[in-house]
Amino acid sequence: MSKLNCWEVKKCGREAGGVKTGELGVCPAALDTSSNGANSGKNGGRICWAVAGTFCGGKVQGDFAQKQVSCMACEVFKKIKHEEGAESFMLMKSGQAYHANR
Ligand code: SF4
Repeated sequence: MSKLNCWEVKKCGREAGGVKTGELGVCPAALDTSSNGANSGKNGGRICWAVAGTFCGGKVQGDFAQKQVSCMACEVFKKIKHEEGAESFMLMKSGQAYHANR
């Protein structure tokens, strides 16, 4: 099973070299080297919900507290959570705190 990054699932074109980078630049999820390898993704590609200011929907999103409701309903989040399974799924970046219902 190939493990796709969010930009490969969503085909947003906002990854480095992507067709839509002229609009907003490269998405923070694709640039977040501190997340590299999380859920076996490239940079933040498989933990994009925990990366602040991503470009989903063609506009800059907030931090995790602001976007958690929409991210948890997102096909990328659900797909990666399912693929990784309860044992290895990373919800947050290492060192990042999770505050439910903030
Ligand atoms: S977080 Fe959204 S906008 Fe950013 S690369 Fe992933 S799918 Fe594209």
